[in-house]
Amino acid sequence: MWGSRKTKQESVTCIACGCSLPRSEAREYDKYGDRWERAGKEFEHLCKACDHDLCHQPRDELEGLLVEIDAGSHSQAEFLSWYSALVEERYGTIEE
Ligand SMILES: [Zn+2]
Repeated sequence: MWGSRKTKQESVTCIACGCSLPRSEAREYDKYGDRWERAGKEFEHLCKACDHDLCHQPRDELEGLLVEIDAGSHSQAEFLSWYSALVEERYGTIEE
């Protein structure tokens, strides 16, 4: 990109996927949700792709859960109990 320039680019690591990227390209992620209180804080960073992923609707996230569980390789009963436990862990108890 700017190979001939001598600008020192600080690089940061995306907390979600672990890739490193220039700080100027990263999105700051503050787990406390307060970007304005900067004193004494260390921000975490996300690359654009992961930042975008975080904005997905829960529905998309559920598809990720299915992949995570590896839906195909378990019996249905095993899968269902595992799946509901995971969903409960992440979203709280589902009231019917
Ligand atoms: Zn990332």
